[in-house]
Amino acid sequence: MSQASTAIIAPLQCPGFQIIDWPNPVGTPTHANLPWLRLAEGPDKLSFDIEVISRNTLARSFDCTQKAGNDAGPCNFCVHLEPKLKALAENARVRRPHTRHGLLTPLQLVKVIHKRDQNMNALKLWGLNDSRKIRCLLSELEDHTSLVMALAQSNVPWLRNLLQTALRNGTSISAILRKIEEALERGYRPQGHSQEALNLSLLILRLGGQGLLYSLNQFLAILSPRTLYRHTSFVKIVPTVGRITQDVIQQNITSVALVPHATAGLMTLRGVSLLVDKTALEEAAVYLPQSNSIGGLCWTHSSCVDVTLNNYHSALNIANALKAGRVHLGKEIMVVGAHVFGEDGLYPILAAPTCKSEDASDMEFIFNTTINSWYASGADKEIGPVWSFTTDGDATRRKAGHRTFLQTPLPLTSPLYGTLSNLPGLNLLTGAHEITLNFDYKHSLQA
Ligand SMILES: [Zn+2]
Ligand SMILES: [Zn+2]
Repeated sequence: MSQASTAIIAPLQCPGFQIIDWPNPVGTPTHANLPWLRLAEGPDKLSFDIEVISRNTLARSFDCTQKAGNDAGPCNFCVHLEPKLKALAENARVRRPHTRHGLLTPLQLVKVIHKRDQNMNALKLWGLNDSRKIRCLLSELEDHTSLVMALAQSNVPWLRNLLQTALRNGTSISAILRKIEEALERGYRPQGHSQEALNLSLLILRLGGQGLLYSLNQFLAILSPRTLYRHTSFVKIVPTVGRITQDVIQQNITSVALVPHATAGLMTLRGVSLLVDKTALEEAAVYLPQSNSIGGLCWTHSSCVDVTLNNYHSALNIANALKAGRVHLGKEIMVVGAHVFGEDGLYPILAAPTCKSEDASDMEFIFNTTINSWYASGADKEIGPVWSFTTDGDATRRKAGHRTFLQTPLPLTSPLYGTLSNLPGLNLLTGAHEITLNFDYKHSLQA
């Protein structure tokens, strides 16, 4: 009886503050997501105790009175743990970066380990990539060393061209090495087709002919005769033999200017300036097979002899005439060229050897013959009308120029008349076809 009464009057124990609605992932017990490490002594120690009794998780204040409060609930101290538990629940729900591991729950620590594993795998992959890169770089470095060794030890012909071609094509060092090996073993010969190579080949062809070009092509990086012919268009001017005739000039205009102009599809008419100048010539008589005659004699006097080689006497006649001074070897060659305004280059239309004895009337003859040939060949309709005739500062040509091109006053019907007639002091005299006289500035300054 006394026992039973003791049991009835014994005060109820404080059950502690029950933790429910804890933020733990589905399928895991509440206590798996509690910061157990914070129960240990230290600065992070919680200000209350956590217990798991029969799968119930409880928080108990250190000051727990051990006696139940109202309605057999937790004691007064344990009841006030609620805000602290809320803060703890927030920490268990979200793991902030850089939180000390001592504050984390077991589940959070597992996540940290997972993250570590992932990082480790990424770093391993990185390391593998790096080692592959290093291997490639090392082999490339080895290729470079081999290239330097190859360049230092062997005398590779055409080396510069080989390297230029390879670099232009973005070839790798190992491929260049293979090419060098080929060059050494099998005579691989790269060739440059640069403008310099073209010019050099052309010079060699002109000075030494096809044979020299072919021989040098075997040893220098220049074009072979066949490649040169493929890359260059050659124009043929008929050299003047004997008196200058309109036929020869017209023939030159057709082959040098009209045909290339039509081939290039240039249809626009432009103004043309004819230019005359002299250039040095090797003093020699040459045999011209196409006309079976002797070339290189001055044009002014070659009409004094028969330049055709019909028999032995013809040759003797020419030799005697040269000896007697009736005819001379050309010291210079007089070239008349047509320059089209707005185009680069020059169309040579007359090349005549001269002994420099022309007087003003000879020059007038040249001026008139070339201009007449230009118009007779129809070049004024295909390329353009002649606007001016340019000469150097030579006194004879100047005199002849004044006679030829300062003759006719600019006609009233000319479209330029209205503008030019109002400029006081301007000389309005022109030649035929309203061609004006012009002097090359460089020559004028020299004079
Ligand atoms: Zn309590
Ligand atoms: Zn002469």
